[in-house]
Amino acid sequence: TVGSIALDAAGNLCVGCSTNGREFKIPGRVGDSPIAGAGAYVDQAVGGAVATGNGDVMMRFLPTYHAVELMLGGMAPQAAAEAAIKRIEDAGYSIGGGIAVIRRDGVHGGAKTTGWEDTQFSYSVQTATGNVKVPVS
Ligand code: ASP
Repeated sequence: TVGSIALDAAGNLCVGCSTNGREFKIPGRVGDSPIAGAGAYVDQAVGGAVATGNGDVMMRFLPTYHAVELMLGGMAPQAAAEAAIKRIEDAGYSIGGGIAVIRRDGVHGGAKTTGWEDTQFSYSVQTATGNVKVPVS
């Protein structure tokens, strides 16, 4: 899955994501990417999030919605990303999954599952001054 979040100078937010789906997927399977709150979610008043990973599990937890709701409640973006991933793992799922989150003031964060301990997961932040790759550990 490739997810993106745009935040313009006026503070408008937009999210989108695209995927080729999981390997060996059943024809016709609808994964997490097109489901609001699973693959991507935005609240103009709060921020946005995008996620990737095992969509069959991710879509049960709506991690991007969860992370944005946690920010609405005052949680910082990094903590919200970690909490959304932790909820999946606390439910007993050992999957690969990651999330990138941004608050409407531009502060961002990311997290990945321990199932992806050996998998490099990063997101990049592009601003007028350049492009920064942010590794997620
Ligand atoms: N989330 C995708 C899916 O389950 C897989 C991926 O992240 O590439 O369809």
